Amino acid sequence: EVVLTVKDLKKYYEVSTGGPFGGGRHLTIKANEAITMDAREAETVAIVGESGCGKSTLAKILLGLETLTAGTVMLGDKEIGHIDVGDRDSKTLASVQMVFQNPFDTLNPSQSVGGQIVRTLEKFKIGKTVADRTERMLELLDLVKLPREFAKRMPRQLSGGQKQRIGIARAFAGEPKVVVADEPVSALDVSVQAAVTELLMDIQKYSRTTMLFISHDLSVVRYLADRVVVMYLGHIVESGSTEQIFSPP
Ligand code: ADP
Ligand code: ADP
Repeated sequence: EVVLTVKDLKKYYEVSTGGPFGGGRHLTIKANEAITMDAREAETVAIVGESGCGKSTLAKILLGLETLTAGTVMLGDKEIGHIDVGDRDSKTLASVQMVFQNPFDTLNPSQSVGGQIVRTLEKFKIGKTVADRTERMLELLDLVKLPREFAKRMPRQLSGGQKQRIGIARAFAGEPKVVVADEPVSALDVSVQAAVTELLMDIQKYSRTTMLFISHDLSVVRYLADRVVVMYLGHIVESGSTEQIFSPP
């Protein structure tokens, strides 16, 4: 079953060059050009390509953090590419989630991590009562293999790997259909990268979530992806099963 369909997606950034030498010239940066791809239930699709090829732009559009210039993004039979994250209903919000590269960016430093997961559940309209949401929050800590006592901790009292586990708990809080993982372990200490990757993949497999895994680490991609999409200068230049992509011509 196809969960996500991206068709002829274009994202152009219009920029004006400033400064004494820029001379106020106008520039169009084609960050995504004619991106067409799909992803099925329970599938992990890796998106690879060098820095600047448009991977994060694609991720942001799926999340509604950027709006597309042209094309469509279908979640099932609902078009979401034109809906800004602030305008998404709670169900759509919960259905497409991201694990960010840097968990420090998305955690509020002055709220307990339990409180932040509860807040996420409220945003997704999950649970009828505070008790429901607290129980669900504690189950999410179990899911990411953190002790329940960690609910009371502030982000600064967690290691980088533990913070990213909270990021994973929030991404999976609302039984998402699609999770975009944008370099989810590259900001973490090397010693915890494998464990956090394994955890993410275990949860993805168990929940049969569709995952788009953005990475530049080809050995990891080869190990965990079902399919690979290769981008270059905003375009998809190659795509296929992991076996096809990695086998010599
Ligand atoms: P990647 O994630 O593969 O490194 P990005 O999607 O971040 O690539 O960037 C793709 C292109 O779009 C790059 O040329 C980048 O400089 C440009 N770009 C990204 N965000 C913006 C923005 N907000 N304004 C202007 N250009 C941008
Ligand atoms: P906030 O200021 O965001 O409300 P709190 O630290 O007061 O954050 O608590 C956040 C949530 O986490 C509350 O719903 C609370 O019931 C729950 N919570 C915190 N610690 C625990 C714990 N050890 N066991 C169960 N629930 C907890």
